[in-house]
Amino acid sequence: MRFDVLEPRSVQEAVDLLAARPEERRVVAGGTALIVFLKERAYTPEALVSLHRVPGLSGVEPEDGGLRIGAMTRLADVHRDARVRAECPVLAEATRVVANARIRAVATLGGNLCHADYHSDPPGVLLALGARVQVRGPAGERDIPIAEFYRDFYETSLRPGEIAVAIRIPGSPLARTGVYQRHMYSARDDWPCLGVTALAEVDETCRTLRLALAGVANRPLRLTWVEEQAVGRRADAALAAALADLAAEGVDPISDLKGPDWYKKEMVRVCVAEAIERAFERARPAGRRE
Ligand SMILES: Cc1cc2nc3c(=O)[nH]c(=O)nc-3n(C[C@H](O)[C@H](O)[C@H](O)COP(=O)(O)OP(=O)(O)OC[C@H]3O[C@@H](n4cnc5c(N)ncnc54)[C@H](O)[C@@H]3O)c2cc1C
Repeated sequence: MRFDVLEPRSVQEAVDLLAARPEERRVVAGGTALIVFLKERAYTPEALVSLHRVPGLSGVEPEDGGLRIGAMTRLADVHRDARVRAECPVLAEATRVVANARIRAVATLGGNLCHADYHSDPPGVLLALGARVQVRGPAGERDIPIAEFYRDFYETSLRPGEIAVAIRIPGSPLARTGVYQRHMYSARDDWPCLGVTALAEVDETCRTLRLALAGVANRPLRLTWVEEQAVGRRADAALAAALADLAAEGVDPISDLKGPDWYKKEMVRVCVAEAIERAFERARPAGRRE
C-alpha cells in the first residue's frame, strides 16, 4: 500500500490538511494501533497527517486545579510524570500497565483514546475521573466529555477534520486515591479481558464511589446504579462484595477472544469487589483502618 505522510507544523495546518479530504486522510500519532489497521487494510488512506512536528501537543500542565495532558504525550511519559503520580495516581497506574514498555514508549494518550478499542485501559479511568477531550476542527474548538466521546467499537464522536489536542482532568479529592485493576486472560502484556476503575471518598461511611469498566461493552461503561447504592453505607469488605454482585448482575458482557460472556460476568464480580475494597482502603483517612 502506498500513502503520503504529511507533516504540518501547527494544529491549524493539521486541521486544514485533514478537513481538505477527511475521507482519504488519517491522523497518525504513535502509529502503534494505526499500523496494524493499515496492514489489515481496514483503512486505505491516501495520506497520513502526522502530528509529530506540531508543537505544544505534549506534556502535562496544571489547569483549574486539575491537569491538562497534551494528546501527543506518550503513555510512558504520563505514568512517569510527577504531577500525574501525585494528583491522579490512578491514571499513572493504568498507563503503566498498557501493553509493554516498547508500546508505551511510542503510543500516545490521545492515540489511545481516539483508537477507541473497548479493551483499552486509560478510557475507563478517564471516564470515572470525569475527564474531557479538547478537540480542534474546521468549526473551531470544543470539549467532549469522555462519557460522550465513544460511540461504538472503534468509533468516536470526533467530526470529520477534528483532532484531539488534549485531555482535561478536573481536580477532585477522588482523583488523589483510587484503584485501577485489570484482569488478564492470557499473557501479561496482552490487552486486558477486563479493566476496573474504582474511586472513593470515605469517612465513617462511603461518601462517593465512582466505578467504570473496560472490556465488557462496546465502550467504557460507568456503573452509576452501583455507585448510588454505595453512598452512606459502611465502607467495608461486605459492602464491596454486595456492590460487586450488583455490578455483575447489571452487566451483559460481550464474548470475545479475552473470554466468554459468563466468564467475564464472574470476573466482574471478583475484580469489582477487590477494586472497591482497595479503593476504600486507600481513601480512608490516615491512621484509620477497618
Ligand atoms: C501489541 C499491542 C498491545 C496493546 N495492548 C494494549 C493494552 O493492554 N491496553 C491498552 O489500553 N492499549 C493497548 N494497545 C493499544 C495501544 O495503547 C495503542 O496502540 C495506542 O495507545 C495508540 O496510540 P498511538 O499514539 O500509537 O495511536 P495511533 O496508532 O497513531 O492512532 C490510533 C488511532 O487514533 C487516531 N488518532 C491518533 N491520535 C489522534 C489525535 N490526536 N486526534 C485524532 N485522532 C487521532 C488515528 O487516526 C488512529 O485511528 C496495544 C497495542 C498493541 C499494538
